[in-house]
Amino acid sequence: MELRALLNRAAHAYYVLDAPLMEDPVYDRLYRELLELETAHPELRTIDSPTRRVGGAPAEGFATVAHRIGLLSLDNAFSFAELEAWYGRLLKVLDRTPAPDAPLPALPLVGELKIDGNALALSYEHGVLVRAATRGDGERGEEITANVRTIRSVPLRLEIADPPEWVEVRGEALIPDGTFAAINAERLERGEPPFANPRNACAGTLRQLDPAVVAARRLEFFAYTLHLPPEWQPSAIGSGPGVPTSQWEALRWLEAAGFRVNHHAALCPDLAAVEAFCAEWEERRRTLPYATDGVVVKLDDLRLQAEAGFTQKAPRWAIALKYAAEEAPSRLLRLVAQVGRTGVVTPVAEFEPVPLAGTTVSRATLHNADRLAELDLHAGDTIVVRKAGEIIPEVVRMLPELRPAGAAPLQLPPVCPECGSELVREEGEAATRCVNSSCPAILRGSLRHWVSKGALDVDGLGSKLIEQLVDRGLVLSIADLYRLDAALLASLERMGEKSAANLVAALDASRRQPWHRQLYGLGIHHVGEVNAKALARAFLSADDLAAAAAERPEAITAVYGIGGEIAQSLQQWFATAANRELLEELRGCGFALAADAEERQAAERAAAAAAGSGGGPLAGATLVLTGTLPALTRSEAKALIEAAGGKVSGSVSKKTTYVVAGEEAGSKLDKARELGVAVLDEAGLRALLEGEPAG
Ligand code: NAD
Repeated sequence: MELRALLNRAAHAYYVLDAPLMEDPVYDRLYRELLELETAHPELRTIDSPTRRVGGAPAEGFATVAHRIGLLSLDNAFSFAELEAWYGRLLKVLDRTPAPDAPLPALPLVGELKIDGNALALSYEHGVLVRAATRGDGERGEEITANVRTIRSVPLRLEIADPPEWVEVRGEALIPDGTFAAINAERLERGEPPFANPRNACAGTLRQLDPAVVAARRLEFFAYTLHLPPEWQPSAIGSGPGVPTSQWEALRWLEAAGFRVNHHAALCPDLAAVEAFCAEWEERRRTLPYATDGVVVKLDDLRLQAEAGFTQKAPRWAIALKYAAEEAPSRLLRLVAQVGRTGVVTPVAEFEPVPLAGTTVSRATLHNADRLAELDLHAGDTIVVRKAGEIIPEVVRMLPELRPAGAAPLQLPPVCPECGSELVREEGEAATRCVNSSCPAILRGSLRHWVSKGALDVDGLGSKLIEQLVDRGLVLSIADLYRLDAALLASLERMGEKSAANLVAALDASRRQPWHRQLYGLGIHHVGEVNAKALARAFLSADDLAAAAAERPEAITAVYGIGGEIAQSLQQWFATAANRELLEELRGCGFALAADAEERQAAERAAAAAAGSGGGPLAGATLVLTGTLPALTRSEAKALIEAAGGKVSGSVSKKTTYVVAGEEAGSKLDKARELGVAVLDEAGLRALLEGEPAG
């Protein structure tokens, strides 16, 4: 089985070589898959399966020692539902399953952060640290006492007056993030490969042969498990801690004995409380200076723990709830070539749905043919998908080990999947395009853009309806939208008479949208909302703009913010016969394709202000910026003010003309109010820039 072989190799690289082959969440998911396969087909289970083992074999170079008490792994839950299922199983082994309609019995649980470090086994005899070992395979680990002695949070002698004959402590050694960054910086300087993450750096450090190096790296240690001889009783005279009967008391015992115990833990009366603890730390953990990858939930009562017992490799009384992964493996289902409004063809990977960072993801763009080739994707490949927070999902790489035999490589098709015409990729361009201007995909994209919010803003014409109109050949161009009648629209799927009438009214009203929106709606390459506004103010009609594009490109680039690329794109667009035809048709449908009286006046005001003052609507004004503006960055706002002839100053005085305040504006706003200086928001600034009087 390739999966088993791959996981074994990954575990070796991770535990023994400290150089992981894959991201932890990817390993966890594949491991889960193997586990499910083995449960469904027990005959596939082999002795060397990673599901049968704890950790990895001890590395060479250190003596191995047998643990007095074995170290186990933890079962994982990836959701509250899985945590609840675990609790149900726990109640069952404890013989406390409630009657079908009765509430779940509440057992106290401890929630502890799952620190992503390395488990250590510390052995004390008569209160003195005699041995420290790694987890190894759970039964035998590497003896690293000399190294562990350098960790300051590991007591060399227990602070207990009358210590038991032996004490076994388990806990997590870790390297804080700051130290990790410093270690990697040093390694890079020495030409050594950096560690993949703090956990690997910690494992590598613990296996250093020179304890002086370990001491310099300042590892930390949090204790979380205590084992005492069963017969031990604290001496009657000492005031030391008694015999713990719960995990919570064990943590207090460890603290009293001189260990560092992580204080971000909670004793919870029931499952709901432990879920609240997990939810709280999902975000809060990012403020910690060390890595955590979940919460360990443990049954508090030690007697009940003993009753619940263990499975082959993990306790039944504890579970690790892992936080939403930002990376996961998935199976590639197909490659789709998506044709956009401009004819650019984007390869999109569709894969089996995976939960990532709080949402379920099943598609990711692969950007272009180069990226597709770089990823070397084949049909049926197992891929690693990443989505962090709000970020768009991406395919990070594929796992070559899991490629099915004889899988065919995936490429963009040679012809457009929508219209069948040959796709073109120009020399030096990243994009592959469909250049057939009547391609239905391009038409659908142009229509969607025309009716979108920033353009003609037509309500009631969604993607599904556009698809129907194009597929049935009812609309062959933007202008055709204005020839639709209500009766025809009402006959379409999911349309009624009312919605059809509303749509006709909305289309009708869209004819009166301002000129800059009409220009933007045409979807000319590089002419976004902001550029369309600037161009529409400088060229008051489509004819003016077309003439300038053909004969006076310098008049176009003279507009603030408009460069040669845009001038060229306009020139090409107006030179294309089909586009000129579209303009004619739109005029025939009642579009002026020119500024109306009000727009002309605004343009004239702006021009007059610029001419009269010898330099823009803000000539002679001094503005101060404070706080964060909703759309403009500081430097954009400054550039716009300066282009309009204004000055930007850093401090408010009586000479300040305006203070432009955004969110979280500071003392400058207070000062402005104190001095009676006019305060504007971003909209106010924009109005000024357009030559309107402030108000
Ligand atoms: P685990 O890490 O999921 O859980 C057990 C460990 O949790 C313990 O050994 C202990 O070290 C730790 N822990 C932290 N805080 C704890 C607390 N408060 N109480 C109890 N234990 C606590 O299980 P595992 O058996 O070590 O193995 C799986 C881990 O190793 C996974 O995170 C997996 O992603 C990773 N792994 C990754 C690769 C890879 O290729 N990237 C390969 C193998 C294993």
